[in-house]
Amino acid sequence: MNASPTTPFTTIIGLEVHVQLQTRTKLFCGCSTQFGAPPNTHVCPTCLGLPGSLPVMNRQAFALALRAALALNCTIAPTTKWDRKNYFYPDLPKGYQISQFDLPFSSDGHLEVVDPKGAFAPRDVGIIRVHLEEDAGKSMHDEAAGTGDTRIDLNRAGTPLCEIVTQPDLRSPQEARAWLNELKLLLVYLGVSDCNMQEGSLRVDANINLHIPQPDGRIAKTPIVEIKNMNSFRSVERALVYETARQYQEWQETKAEMGSKPKQTRGWDEPAGITRGQRAKEESSDYRYFPEPDLVLVTVDAAQLAAVQSGMTEPPTELRKALESRWKISPYDADVLVNQGRELVGYFEELAGAIGEGKVASNWMQQDVLRTLNERGGTIDAFPVKPAGLADLIRRVTAGDFDTSRAREIFADMVTSGRSAAEVVATLGISAVDDDELLALCHELLAANPKIVADVRGGKEQAAAGLIGQAKKKNANVNPGKVREKCLELIRAMG
Ligand code: ZN
Ligand code: MN
Repeated sequence: MNASPTTPFTTIIGLEVHVQLQTRTKLFCGCSTQFGAPPNTHVCPTCLGLPGSLPVMNRQAFALALRAALALNCTIAPTTKWDRKNYFYPDLPKGYQISQFDLPFSSDGHLEVVDPKGAFAPRDVGIIRVHLEEDAGKSMHDEAAGTGDTRIDLNRAGTPLCEIVTQPDLRSPQEARAWLNELKLLLVYLGVSDCNMQEGSLRVDANINLHIPQPDGRIAKTPIVEIKNMNSFRSVERALVYETARQYQEWQETKAEMGSKPKQTRGWDEPAGITRGQRAKEESSDYRYFPEPDLVLVTVDAAQLAAVQSGMTEPPTELRKALESRWKISPYDADVLVNQGRELVGYFEELAGAIGEGKVASNWMQQDVLRTLNERGGTIDAFPVKPAGLADLIRRVTAGDFDTSRAREIFADMVTSGRSAAEVVATLGISAVDDDELLALCHELLAANPKIVADVRGGKEQAAAGLIGQAKKKNANVNPGKVREKCLELIRAMG
């Protein structure tokens, strides 16, 4: 945990992530969680906080939260309870949020982040706790420009959230962003959340301070700042970079250390590229937490845990390793494929299986399928060329029917026309050049290029490359590798 040679301090970062669980209905009532409905149409007495209404826990939300916590290697509490977190805000009609305080349903996990490009060392980030809570509504300030009014939409009130709190284990803004990417990938793979950040399904608070070694050997710690409610990972990284510099400058000016003032909350102003002070942070005692009297304790038994565990698919970390060993591809290639999502990995595995080769399949995925997908948009499931069709094309390359650049043209045609490789080959007049044709062509080339022949006979075998371009002009269907091979064979035969 030393300051690096380039900075005279160590950056200490911890994250708090709120993730919306992928349920159809809210955490304590039957209202829909569908995004984008007209304001205040997905509400009922319970989520409006009307007197006499009673919450009932959504079991699906609890099961999804268990899945997330298990995937994050957390210990699951056998019994967990709900608490009221009291605060006043216009978008919180009950005057309290139902959350979990001293007995969260899970704690003490970890999630590792690895950079296959090696920009930072692998880092295992500890997770203090994962708990469940309900979301608040949304305040919309001054939406009709100039009116200066505030409107409240309570559609979101009561939406199930998982709050994931990490240890302060991250050491740079870049690591924080990479870790968030890994967390998001994991949650999407598991079907826990869609993690749609534009719709507010994943929000991040970041805690940061600096540890600055002093001449007397003591470590000075700057006051912790919490940067609230960021909804893009790019913003998180930028805000942390900014805050690192701001805190170091403040330290140089004031020498203020942790504990000398209350923990501060700052907001990230994306257009201005700065953080701004908001308020002194509440201590948890300010919320007057107390047990929610309207909900019973939740108990989790071994059978329930086993059921959640057995319904869980391979998480990204394990899938990367599995692809590496199953298909003999590099960690970098496995990372690129896995980061694109499970559907794309499925396509890759079907392709690799069909051609019996991982590396070639991975190259086609990265160079051609992914590029085309990025250009066209849409999902891999709707991609016009299916794995079997692409495998057929690749087998023809392997058989020497045509070379890879010709295959790329055929592939582009398959994508736009929806035709098979065989159909495209037939309509473009691409035909395999037979051995007699090839031999005649090579004789022709050698006769027309005495200088190249002389060079090759003199030991400069690479001069043969000059023959390939000419061969392609004479017959677009020839395989360059075969032309080269045959020409060299003929020249060697000259003695
Ligand atoms: Zn409701
Ligand atoms: Mn929270």
